[in-house]
Amino acid sequence: MALYLVFLVAILIIAAMVYAPIRRRRHRQALAAQPFPRQWRLVLRERWLLYRYLPVDVRFALQRQLQIMMANTEFYGCNGLEVTETMRLLTLAQAALLYRNISQDQLASFPTVLLYPDAFVREGELTDELGLVSRQRHIMLGESWQQGRVILSWSDIEQDLRRLDGHNLVIHEYAHQIDGYDGSMNGAPLLPNETQYRRWTRVMTAAFEDVNHQVQWGESPIDPYASTNPAEFFAVVSEYFFTQPDLLQRLYPEVYTLLAGFYRQQPLEWLGEVQRLEQSTIH
Ligand SMILES: [Zn+2]
Repeated sequence: MALYLVFLVAILIIAAMVYAPIRRRRHRQALAAQPFPRQWRLVLRERWLLYRYLPVDVRFALQRQLQIMMANTEFYGCNGLEVTETMRLLTLAQAALLYRNISQDQLASFPTVLLYPDAFVREGELTDELGLVSRQRHIMLGESWQQGRVILSWSDIEQDLRRLDGHNLVIHEYAHQIDGYDGSMNGAPLLPNETQYRRWTRVMTAAFEDVNHQVQWGESPIDPYASTNPAEFFAVVSEYFFTQPDLLQRLYPEVYTLLAGFYRQQPLEWLGEVQRLEQSTIH
């Protein structure tokens, strides 16, 4: 009898484990199928420069992903910040760009977001042993934790919404999260096979070494922060990929192609012409 009960409990546990992803997938499919709120579309068009350049199919996919993330992301306002729906929408809309190639079935949860009104100061030493990859420019603009938590400064997010110049805090921190889905934030995300890992390592290592060389000579054409380590390199080139793809393509065409395959996006088609005409910052 006891053995029978153990067997029954085991069956129930296995059934629950199998059913959870199916239920999750159904729930997310239902969310994505809902009509995208008109008010959200207006906010995106009004406040987010990149959105205006997105082709219709990319907008559509982004909206679906955004609906899933809006319903499944916890936000906490820090230092007295009251997090509004608009703040959540504009933060997650940028993050959603990175998720086109991430399987929704495997993804149990989205990172929790701690939102500060401004750049924040963190006390004490931060080390890799804690599983932390941090961005420090005297003061902190953002952090990404292995345990699925990103810490962001709203005033910096607001600035990024209006510019297309290779700097984007949300993309940077979410790139760390995507890098970490395979268990380690090391600059190589989860890839389908060994051949792709080899290609990833070859292309990224060559570009990383080149940036390091340029930084040593004080003339890096991209943010020198990319030379910190391979994880930061991946996060920084992801920023350029989505917001200044023409520069990335000119400097490191193989990196652009690699990221285009990985993210399943072609920002050069959205922004290439605009950026050739206007160069860097757009107001
Ligand atoms: Zn970083």
